[in-house]
Order: sequence, then C-alpha cells, then structure tokens
Amino acid sequence: MAEQSDIFCNEGIIGSSTITTVGTMRIVLAKDGVTSTHFMVIPMEHRDHIDEFTGQETADFNEALSLIRHVAERRGIASYRLISMVGAESGSTIAHYHMHVIGVTSADRNDEKFGILMANPGARPIHYSIEELPKRARELRAEFDAAKGRTSH
Ligand SMILES: [Zn+2]
Repeated sequence: MAEQSDIFCNEGIIGSSTITTVGTMRIVLAKDGVTSTHFMVIPMEHRDHIDEFTGQETADFNEALSLIRHVAERRGIASYRLISMVGAESGSTIAHYHMHVIGVTSADRNDEKFGILMANPGARPIHYSIEELPKRARELRAEFDAAKGRTSH
C-alpha cells in the first residue's frame, strides 16, 4: 500500500461532509447523489482495496453498512445498491477505497436515467454546493444517531 494523498485522506476536505463515524470508518454524504439516500463508507486510513482492511476495519465497515440500512429503513426504503469502483479503468476517480450505498425506490428505478447516473456525477439529480454539504451532513447526524440508538446492542 503506497502512501497516498487524495481528498479522502484530507481531513480538511472529507471532514466537512462526514455525517458520522463508526470506529475506523466514516459515513459521508455524497456531494452529487443518485438519490436523496446516497452515502459512502470510507476508511479513515488510506486503503486501495477492500482486502487491505484490518479485522477491525472489516467489522466497522459491516457495522457502518448496517447503520445505513437502518437509516434507509426509517425513511421507508428497503432496497439499495452497493457500488464500489476500484482502478481507473472502472471509472473510479479517487484511489481511496469507498463504497457507495444508494437507497433506491421504485420511482428511482423507473427513472430512465437511473442506470447511467453512477458513471456521470454531472448527471446526478442531487447536488450540494461546498457551503450546503457540511450543513446537510450535520443535519443528517441526528438521523444517524437516532438509528444508532435503535440498533445498539
Ligand atoms: Zn487516501
């Protein structure tokens, strides 16, 4: 694993769009969203690939996915897509492992553009400005905290 410097390694950039953290993982609001329920799970330490995760990171990653699922369910969304692009040929533009979690309703799925939105951030219907992104992430923190309360063991 090479030393990397990318926006997901830069606390000054990624910190402002972080909704909450789960141990070694952060849950981040997507700046350009496919749907209104579009988050990313990103390890705090730089990882190129998911198979570089430590045991703790794998456990935290699973817990973060579970938390997002509960947030989606509270919104009445039972379906979602997990999308992770690794390597430039895949269309990935950031070489820091990240998993997109996108809640999908039948209305989203029936949108004729839905299938092509992942590969083209400019075409996605949700856009947060640099000013809006941290504000929205802070607002979402309460929703995640409520879901955490419900899922705690
Ligand atoms: Zn990185």
